[in-house]
Amino acid sequence: MLNKSLANILRTTKKHLSLLETLGVKNVKDFLMYFPRSYTDASEFTQIIDVRTDQINVIKGKLSNLFNMRTKTGVKITRGLFTDESGSIQVVWFNQPHLIKMLPRNKDIILSGKAKLSMGKISLQSPGYEIIKQYEEQIHTGRIVPVYHETEGLNSKWMREKLKPLVDEWIVLFDEYMPEEILKEHNLLDYKTAIKNIHFPESDEILDKAQERLAFDELFLLQLKVLQKKWLWRSAAEPFSKKIETKSEILKDCIKSIGFELTNAQKKVIKEILEDLKQPFPMSRLIQGDVGSGKTIVAAIAALNVVKNGFQVAIMAPTEILAKQHYQTFIKVLNRFGLNIQFIAGSTTKSQKDDIVMQMKTGTVDIIIGTHSLIQEGIGFKNLGLAIIDEQHRFGVKQREILKSYGSPHLLNMTATPIPRTLAITIYGDQDLSIIDEMPKGRQEILTKVVPETKRIEAYRWVEDQVNKGRQAFIICPLIDESDVLQVKSVLNEFAFLSEHIFPKLKLGLLHGKLKQEEKDKIMSDFKENKINLLVSTSVIEVGIDVPNATIMLIEGSERFGLSQLHQFRGRVGRGEHKSYCFLFTGTLSEEGNKRMKAMETYSSGFKLSEIDLELRGPGEVYGVRQSGIPDLKMASLTDSKTIEKARVSAQKIIEKDPLLKTYEKLAEKIAELQEIHVQD
Ligand code: ADP
Ligand code: MG
Repeated sequence: MLNKSLANILRTTKKHLSLLETLGVKNVKDFLMYFPRSYTDASEFTQIIDVRTDQINVIKGKLSNLFNMRTKTGVKITRGLFTDESGSIQVVWFNQPHLIKMLPRNKDIILSGKAKLSMGKISLQSPGYEIIKQYEEQIHTGRIVPVYHETEGLNSKWMREKLKPLVDEWIVLFDEYMPEEILKEHNLLDYKTAIKNIHFPESDEILDKAQERLAFDELFLLQLKVLQKKWLWRSAAEPFSKKIETKSEILKDCIKSIGFELTNAQKKVIKEILEDLKQPFPMSRLIQGDVGSGKTIVAAIAALNVVKNGFQVAIMAPTEILAKQHYQTFIKVLNRFGLNIQFIAGSTTKSQKDDIVMQMKTGTVDIIIGTHSLIQEGIGFKNLGLAIIDEQHRFGVKQREILKSYGSPHLLNMTATPIPRTLAITIYGDQDLSIIDEMPKGRQEILTKVVPETKRIEAYRWVEDQVNKGRQAFIICPLIDESDVLQVKSVLNEFAFLSEHIFPKLKLGLLHGKLKQEEKDKIMSDFKENKINLLVSTSVIEVGIDVPNATIMLIEGSERFGLSQLHQFRGRVGRGEHKSYCFLFTGTLSEEGNKRMKAMETYSSGFKLSEIDLELRGPGEVYGVRQSGIPDLKMASLTDSKTIEKARVSAQKIIEKDPLLKTYEKLAEKIAELQEIHVQD
């Protein structure tokens, strides 16, 4: 019933209906779920004697002496006198001569508007009006008035008028779905009352309660969904046969041989993983660690342990360059343990691929490292014990499902995109969180500066100077748009320009997504070996590349990148012993862009930057709604840790009691709705 089209219900024009549609409002339910964006409190009437020029005055009184006139310049003016118990005041409207017919005289009406002082006299200027019909509720004035997001041709007043009768008539159909025990526990308003009062609040107190209830609902349902997902993951493979013992001696041996001391944070996370691997259900864990915090070695140690228990390990990275680098690290670190480690990616030839897949299926391969190729058709394993996904936010839900189909291995996700904790537990609550919150010793802060256009040449000379001292630099070209073609064109131009005019004496390399794999590999290895001084690149360089001798990161069109991405770029330098620098060139900056650049200069912590990004741009922009499945919340804030915590505890209780929600049919329905909307990949 609630999905009845508004076309059959509202008395309005086709135009208005289609405008509503642009706001995503098609049926009764959509409209009632179209919540106000704010409220103006006009519930208290101002006495005329108290009218002030610096506020909106809402006055209940009677109009008299109304007349129209015309100024010399042709402006039509309607004047009148407005009177309440405390006194009288002049009222003026401009170019609305029809008012003279519409406004009743000597009957109670409500005017609301600003007052102006002119020639020593105070008057109300073009106030809004509401004619009080007897026994009828006021909706535009004289109460807490809802203000809606408007679109051209649809204003709040129109929405209030249409919504009021709709709310009154249809609210009965808004069924309570929240279990009684939860409502009681948190002292929440019932659903009907909440919806009703979110639109037309009877008081401040009840508006607060309505907002509290609806915010709770959003956070609760989200978490119920992810917790159910967690439960489903854990119970997918029963009986579970992939319990992994900790091979302490071997691991110690490995750790001793890597050439540096693990940070305490790395040790802590390794312990958490080993603990998980012993459990009688598959792990689902997310490691968050800032760029350069050393996640790879943690992954390698986990992988070694799993292989030594007789299982296979798969590692998947978002780009081929990165997968290749992991492959090299793994070979280096695990070489001494006699493992068969293989690499598979887009560039792998068909016959090589066939061979490797055969080895994977027969169990000859211990560790397979690759890109999306690892989850394509025809891939299979003999006994996959652990799947590691680097930069998991780039992989969709569906892809994780495929991994599951490889026999529910333990799952370890790694991300350098720091997500504030509140957000992480809300949207990634299906995973346990491990945080590497400590950088390896001896890392130095990277000096970050926004460089004005006037200093460009100077900056180039400085870069050249550093190169002459033996260092290397990255130059990142701006993000043009989604199109690869334009991207490549821009980087080609930049490369030609820099080679010819700016750095004719230096060796420049060029990297972009359209290059063949061998070409990319060649350039990266030349850069690593310092055969290339300057690497001009698109954002493909973004994740994970490790070149300790590179000390300068120069970014063009910085404002086009999000903070997390800029931070990722910056993380490419400062990996060695030398002082490192990040130079940001920008186009014209918006206020928000300016704030982002300032934040880059000020903060070096990825977590801090992600919080700022989240505040400035909202979760959808920052993490990409499509990729992350971050919903567009109406009421709740993903930074409201108190409500998030409350909602989580309640959701946990429900899932513990009844994970499949068999006795909570209405909740199950709600979650299904959520999935329809938010899971797109
Ligand atoms: P990320 O977390 O960004 O993936 P990496 O795993 O690529 O970081 O590590 C970055 C660099 O730091 C690598 O060169 C790695 O060898 C080095 N590294 C990792 N852990 C330590 C440590 N505890 N001490 C010193 N260097 C380390
Ligand atoms: Mg990495």
